[in-house]
Amino acid sequence: MRVAVFSTRLYDRAHLDRANARTGHTLVYFDPHLDAATSQLARGFEVVSAFVNDRLDAGVLAALAEGGTRLVALRCAGFNQIDLAAAASLGIRVVRVPAYSPYAVAEHTLALILALNRHLPRAVIRVRDGNFALDGLVGFDLHGKTVGVIGTGTIGRVVVRLLTGFGCRVLACDPFPSDAVTALGATYTTLETLLAESRIVTLHCPLTPDTHHVLNADALALLRQGSMVINTSRGGLLDTRAAIAALKSGHLGALGIDVYEEEAALFFDDWSGTVMRDDVFARLLTFPNVIVTAHQAFLTTEALTGIAETTLASITAFAAGDPLVNEVRA
Ligand code: NAD
Repeated sequence: MRVAVFSTRLYDRAHLDRANARTGHTLVYFDPHLDAATSQLARGFEVVSAFVNDRLDAGVLAALAEGGTRLVALRCAGFNQIDLAAAASLGIRVVRVPAYSPYAVAEHTLALILALNRHLPRAVIRVRDGNFALDGLVGFDLHGKTVGVIGTGTIGRVVVRLLTGFGCRVLACDPFPSDAVTALGATYTTLETLLAESRIVTLHCPLTPDTHHVLNADALALLRQGSMVINTSRGGLLDTRAAIAALKSGHLGALGIDVYEEEAALFFDDWSGTVMRDDVFARLLTFPNVIVTAHQAFLTTEALTGIAETTLASITAFAAGDPLVNEVRA
């Protein structure tokens, strides 16, 4: 099938081309995000493939439907960027990649925890500058610390396993507790207890109307003084302004994020030659105890291969009229 593939970078193309050697679709790559301004590029394509920061609201979907699109293949697990009800009413089916190397995101979560705790960004800069003093670089043993995992699905479960490997006590909260997580040694509790008892809190739930700003000012106030928060899930889970206030007061001890509420305007592109216009994001970058990565938690060879293979398999199934096992519905 002819597929319009939006928001593609070199690493996407390399992995999609390699996987497509076995499926033989015609992939036409577009660098820009899919939005109202670019939706006309998809005219005549029965299949459109999109990524996390593409905008698939009712207007864009109507333009796609009018141009002949019948399938949207999301190259990601989350589907908060698409209006599923509008897609259904327009006769557009939607597939996603529900699971691809959960280890990629889980390991990046641990990388953020370790880098923040042991002050690695500052340590690297100091050594490069010939400054071998250790003041200000004191961390803590992860062993024996309590870590709260919010959301114990595919990724959260791997995070729990990694944390238990470090000897952490793990508290978890999820509306659907998993026996496998309990078997790993984690204890399910309420969000309030998890926040009050954890030294580190990490988010692994999807962004939905229910979870938007699940870590808001009230929730952050429940944290222990000096706690660390990690978000590798979706920016909208954390109220960034409330986090900045908590960082300024010292109540929040460290913040590691791979996702940001307003990331669509920034991430995946090179803005290094321009002025930063997002004052909230700019403020975040001033804290020595904040690490921001630009939505790269998924970025491993294994994950990119899995994303490419699952996306193309869904398109092949759609072409053959087979069931779409990775379909998402409103
Ligand atoms: P998943 O669907 O397997 O698991 C999500 C879990 O969250 C489920 O167990 C669900 O019951 C739970 N949950 C739902 N609402 C909750 C709430 N209010 N409180 C606590 N738990 C709740 O999803 P996954 O594959 O583990 O992915 C988790 C999230 O990670 C995705 O939604 C996506 O947004 C994000 N993600 C980020 C990256 C990245 O590169 N940064 C890559 C992949 C996925």
